[in-house]
Amino acid sequence: MEKQPHIADSRDSGLVSTARLNRQRRSPFTADRFPEWMDHHHIRLLFVFAIMTMVTVFCLGWALYTIQQRLIQSSGHSLVQAATDAASKLNMLILERSGDIQLLSEAPIAQGQNPETLTQYLRQLRHTYPAYRWIGVTDSQGRIVATTTPSSASLDQSQRPWFLLARNLTGVRILDAQMSEESDVTSAITVIAPRHSPDGRFLGAIKAVVGIPSLITILDDTMQVLKDIEWTEESHLEYQLLNEHGDLLADSALQQDGHLNLKELGVPSATLVTDHARGFVEETHLRRGTSVITAYAQLTIPHAEPNVRWGILIRVDRDSILAPIRSFLWKLSYLSLLLLLPLVGLVLWMIKARHEEWSSAKRESQRAIDAESALTKRTEALHALVVATQTLSAQQDLDGLIEHLLNIARDITGARYAALAVLTEDQREPGQFLSIGFDDAAADAIQSLPFDLDARESLGQENGTLSLHHLEKHWASQGLPADHRPMTSYLGVSIRCHDRFFGRLSLANKQTPHGLVTDFSELDEQIVLTLATQAGTAIQNLQLLHDSKEQAKHDSLTELLNHSAILNALTQELSRAERNHQPVGVLIADLDHFKRVNDTYGHQVGDTVLREAAQRLRETARSYDHVGRAGGEEFLIVVPNCDLEALRECAERFRAAISDMPFDTPSGPLTITVSIGATVCSAEYPLSSELLRKMADYALYRVKSHGRNGVDIVPHPHTLAGEQLKKIA
Ligand code: GH3
Ligand code: MG
Ligand code: MG
Repeated sequence: MEKQPHIADSRDSGLVSTARLNRQRRSPFTADRFPEWMDHHHIRLLFVFAIMTMVTVFCLGWALYTIQQRLIQSSGHSLVQAATDAASKLNMLILERSGDIQLLSEAPIAQGQNPETLTQYLRQLRHTYPAYRWIGVTDSQGRIVATTTPSSASLDQSQRPWFLLARNLTGVRILDAQMSEESDVTSAITVIAPRHSPDGRFLGAIKAVVGIPSLITILDDTMQVLKDIEWTEESHLEYQLLNEHGDLLADSALQQDGHLNLKELGVPSATLVTDHARGFVEETHLRRGTSVITAYAQLTIPHAEPNVRWGILIRVDRDSILAPIRSFLWKLSYLSLLLLLPLVGLVLWMIKARHEEWSSAKRESQRAIDAESALTKRTEALHALVVATQTLSAQQDLDGLIEHLLNIARDITGARYAALAVLTEDQREPGQFLSIGFDDAAADAIQSLPFDLDARESLGQENGTLSLHHLEKHWASQGLPADHRPMTSYLGVSIRCHDRFFGRLSLANKQTPHGLVTDFSELDEQIVLTLATQAGTAIQNLQLLHDSKEQAKHDSLTELLNHSAILNALTQELSRAERNHQPVGVLIADLDHFKRVNDTYGHQVGDTVLREAAQRLRETARSYDHVGRAGGEEFLIVVPNCDLEALRECAERFRAAISDMPFDTPSGPLTITVSIGATVCSAEYPLSSELLRKMADYALYRVKSHGRNGVDIVPHPHTLAGEQLKKIA
């Protein structure tokens, strides 16, 4: 097998310009930008979403906190107002009662000495104002002269502190709440006043005990008003009335008077009564273990000496105040859920619908892009193919055509390697192997492709292509070095010429801008198949051209080189001989008395003889000798590398080939002889073709002159010159 040196890797040699269509690509479908943006920024989106959620939660929390605080403040103010109102009412009641006693002390009825009437009056007064638990009037000695309940009090009050105090008073005086032995109630305030005669003489004292429980009805009424407010609950609302020492005078929870001291119980608000006039605080109630709002108001008992201050505390649980807003929030939450759930469902459904729409639009867009790209590729490939076929058919010689074919096939398909195995006459084995891009190892390996015999045969079919992929494992089995660049794909196609296989075009390792791929495309197969067909036609045309050129060089009758072709051959051999310093023999053979053959047997027999003579001369000549018909029945024979010694023998061989064997003609065997004149062009004496022909012609003339059927040689030009001089002389 003859292996050609690799044609240089001429991917950029520009034999074929695969003119890319300068087409403006459409911008990709805009719908995929948004999701792409989302893909690229999802961390940022999550961060923004988290921040927004945090801000929303913070705002909601802040709003809730503010609402709660406002509600607590508003409730606190309402409680304070209620406590203040209650304090005012208590104050008013005490003032009224002290006013009663003041009036009584100055009234004539108290001046008079009629105890019966006074007693009657006192009882009426108590009946009118149930707040009075006990009223008593003494004389100047401290003896009770009139009383609402005579049995309950000692008649002699002269040593009682209140009597002693009243003696020195000028007007009414209220004493601090104290245990009153004069009544059956446990807590009370005492109003005392002196009785004076118009002339200022002390007549006695008046004492009225106002029971605390009667005062408490005012607080109960207040509480009832508060209970009617929406945010309060009975169980979480309470009041306390206490004195400035913290002693409980009344407690709505205990519903009884007692000596419990709130300070001792650890309720902080107990101290507020002495410190502040009115207000409210939020505190943890130690007994109840919950946060409560405590409103407080102070009540300064009029006409008390020393000053007596009471405090009114009204408490509500904080939870009770916030219950309405919490209930509202719960309702709002339920309502929001009811409204939001369908809304969220609707939004999700819309997103899903949009997503499906978008996905389908994207798929369509991708399909359109793929189709456009495939169309562009196909158009570019077809354009390149058209240019390639034009350039292919313009090739003047077979080697150039094959090299060009390999370059085109590689350029259009993107193959890294291309090779052409030209098959031998029996079409079994490659007689010639040309490749581009291959190194020696890869070139050896690809010659054996396809490995499978069946595949080879299918490749041999008309329009047969063979595409193989994932070749790595086969490649290793073909002895390719392990560190060799991997072989991945193979595309083979046969090239036919004159209905015979000319060769097998092999492409390997398709590359794309994204790298090596494992397979050639269908488009590649179609293009290479078309290219192979075009190449086959181009090769056929070249051969036709070659044949017609050959025909033009040959004589139609004898098929020997014609006159001009044999002269060209002579000129070429002479120049080559001059270069190589080798001799060239020149022989002119002329059939003897040929005219007679024509005349005797006719031209047809003459032609037969001429053809036979030509064939004999050709068969006698060596492969590198040139035999031509110089004209008529005269032949010119050029014998390269033939010196003077060999020339005679050579000429004799030609003569014998004609003369020694009769010619078989339609008119029977004919003996034809030939005369041969010869000369030689030696390296020492380079001569022109014209002179050589003259010398050979002269030698021929001499043979003819000496009876024909012989050989003569004119070895040197001066022989010719001498003979001619003799002739002239
Ligand atoms: P000599 O031995 O001196 O060469 O005699 P000759 O008859 O061969 O030579 P001559 O030159 O007188 O005649 C050549 C003849 O060859 C004349 C011509 O009719 C014949 N001839 C030339 N060309 C052809 C051809 O193509 N076919 C045939 N049949 N005859 C041809
Ligand atoms: Mg002749
Ligand atoms: Mg002749």
